[in-house]
Amino acid sequence: MQRRPCAAKSGNIVVSHKCAAKSGNIVVSHKCAAKSGNIVVSHKCAVVWFLRPRLGDRTQGRIPRDRTWTETGMPPDGRDISHPARRDGDGPDAERGCVASGSCTKAPQRGCVASGSHTKATQRGCVASGSHTKATQRGMVFDVQRFSIHDGPGIRTTVFMKGCPLRCGWCHNPESMSPEPALSFQPERCIGCGQCFRKCPRAAHAMVDERHVLDRGICRACGECATECHAKALEIVGKEMSVGEVLDEVLRDLPFYETSGGGMTLSGGEPLMQIAFAEVLLRSAKEAGLHTCVDTSGSVDYGLFERVRPHVDLFLFDYKETDPERHREYTGVTNERILANLRALHDSGAAIRLRCPLVGGLNDRPDHLEGIARLASELPELEAVEILPYHRLGEGKLARMGLEALARAGAPVPEQRTVDEWVDELERRGVKVAGRGRTSSARPAGS
Ligand code: SF4
Ligand code: SF4
Repeated sequence: MQRRPCAAKSGNIVVSHKCAAKSGNIVVSHKCAAKSGNIVVSHKCAVVWFLRPRLGDRTQGRIPRDRTWTETGMPPDGRDISHPARRDGDGPDAERGCVASGSCTKAPQRGCVASGSHTKATQRGCVASGSHTKATQRGMVFDVQRFSIHDGPGIRTTVFMKGCPLRCGWCHNPESMSPEPALSFQPERCIGCGQCFRKCPRAAHAMVDERHVLDRGICRACGECATECHAKALEIVGKEMSVGEVLDEVLRDLPFYETSGGGMTLSGGEPLMQIAFAEVLLRSAKEAGLHTCVDTSGSVDYGLFERVRPHVDLFLFDYKETDPERHREYTGVTNERILANLRALHDSGAAIRLRCPLVGGLNDRPDHLEGIARLASELPELEAVEILPYHRLGEGKLARMGLEALARAGAPVPEQRTVDEWVDELERRGVKVAGRGRTSSARPAGS
């Protein structure tokens, strides 16, 4: 850690961005500290602030108790003095983390760390630099999964976003298909309390032949019934989150990313369908020093790739089927646009890992294996090819979301022997293969 006391001007501790990100120390910008005498975090590294509560012990451990807080940037009794209100001892606990430059007195909101005018900083968890309005960009998310090890290098947090242009019968995340919140219903969990019948304003719940039936044709996913269902048979999937809220969650595992080479992955669904949200989230994550991945179906306008490319370290690009007509049959669209996007993205210099779901009885054919090998030879800068054996975890989810009709009934899980043969054949042909997909792995196959 480099500590450079800015003694001439403020007496505060100035820590270089890089070291502070690693050590969990406060990052103080020279300029603002000199002017205000406050602890001011430079916007780029401000997200480090979110780690402060968990790293507080470590920070205090580094600062001898007999030094004054003007020397250390911390009070001798260990109080959090970052916010003027807290330093005076009269700030509510909810006011933690206000670290923006400029006048601090008008910034009572928790977690506001962007530079610029404080009067606009009313959002919680705003962490992007520049305009506040962008940092508060909201998106529709259905899960934030920590400790993911299958969505890019290292330990990652995967943000699953709603909305997908494809309709794959083997989809492991069918709850992502609709861009809106949707009602998940698991009748096997129902204990027959009848609350949903009473609560639903549209009478979407009914008993038919002594079976509890949900009429999805009239359900508007308002969530009234789910709120009352204590058996968790009914749940709303999908909620709006701001960029700040998502990053707040993602940054909880920063130490794990640093030690494993991990970071944040956007998945779905197709994350680029929420391009404004994805763009701000990725840019903010990069500013926080995170490695970023985007898991994409490739079936979007190429312009969307151009918007996020500067903020993405690695694209996880799905390639599901070589034959265009089979592709349409399995996913609802042909693969021409996907291939065109893949080639354009490759030629732009982006890092790409090609992810190929292997589904028994559908695309586990020699001509598709040949197609993958040929494609890889045409794209020499591919980071790697990954073979993802299909598993059945998504089948139950299709039923829960009322999408049974999409299910590829009985599509067999490919044998491990087949997976190994594919990997061996690709490697024999000089293709770099990332890992050796396990049929027992919980890793989903395809988007
Ligand atoms: S509220 Fe839940 S447990 Fe009660 S009847 Fe409805 S689905 Fe079943
Ligand atoms: S989500 Fe709303 S409309 Fe749909 S079944 Fe429940 S209460 Fe009725």
